[in-house]
Amino acid sequence: MLTWKNVLQFAREGSPKPDRVMNLSIEEWKQKLSPDVFEITRLRGTERPFSGEYCGVFELALYACVCCGALLFDASYKFESGTGWPSFTQPISDNAVKYSADFSHGMERIEALCNTCEAHLGHVFPDGPSPSGLRFCMNSKSLIKVEEAQVGHKETVTFGGGCFWCTEAIFESLKGVEKVRSGYSGGSIVNPTYRQVCSGTTGHAEVIQIEFDPKVISFEDLVKIHLYTHDPTTVNRQGADVGSQYRSAIFYHSEAQKLTAEKVIKALTPEFDNKIVTEVSRLANYYPAEDYHQNYYAQNATQPYCQAVISPKLAKLRAKYKDKLK
Ligand SMILES: [Zn+2]
Repeated sequence: MLTWKNVLQFAREGSPKPDRVMNLSIEEWKQKLSPDVFEITRLRGTERPFSGEYCGVFELALYACVCCGALLFDASYKFESGTGWPSFTQPISDNAVKYSADFSHGMERIEALCNTCEAHLGHVFPDGPSPSGLRFCMNSKSLIKVEEAQVGHKETVTFGGGCFWCTEAIFESLKGVEKVRSGYSGGSIVNPTYRQVCSGTTGHAEVIQIEFDPKVISFEDLVKIHLYTHDPTTVNRQGADVGSQYRSAIFYHSEAQKLTAEKVIKALTPEFDNKIVTEVSRLANYYPAEDYHQNYYAQNATQPYCQAVISPKLAKLRAKYKDKLK
């Protein structure tokens, strides 16, 4: 992940080599581009804030350079900065963007250019959200959105809903869910063990990381199923399991997931007797659990805990979401 230190170093000492280079003369670009795109990308113009078409767009997609088609950004790293320009915390790769010190307008700023064709994209600032702390402030007109279908996007999300033996069994039975792995997220210890997490002192929650095909099952449906199949209204507790490791959580991987999760929670609130307390935060870390925790229910279905706790949850799921099951 690039940080401000890397950006300053690239601006000072040169950016990493691009995969390919495209050189056209200014006259050739003028022929090829519309006047407003030419103005921004070749004459370092800036579009008016809130005027660009990608400003409020957060759906999963990739963004390419409007001049040469080189991939620049992944919407997973797009966030609402409130500035009126599309903003990202990271480029798609370390060598996608070229960084250059810009002393125009009496300021010292870091200009971001397409590393393939040197199109002006915008500027980079050190005031973005963690973990990178970067804000790539881009002109919509420098970018072109490449649709999700064209890039064959699979999505990942991380849910905490109490004991991962239960949540894993639920999500493994859904169509469109391609992989579920139990693990630990949201705490401060690197590579925690199950024993450490069970002590309740690591800050980690028991989670499952779900890889799914959004063309088969939507993220919205996954959030609904998550909320219906655990108790999202109890703080640090699921039934008899008590501790912050059992907290209800949605660790989102993109701004689009965040907005959808918040929307679903709001919509479902009237259906619950108490307030939904599910934590919604960006995934900061994830550590897979020990092998013996993976596929737990499938391998231990007759064990008393599975019989008492997991089997009724699966029955509830079967009744409500019959059409979504494998
Ligand atoms: Zn380019």
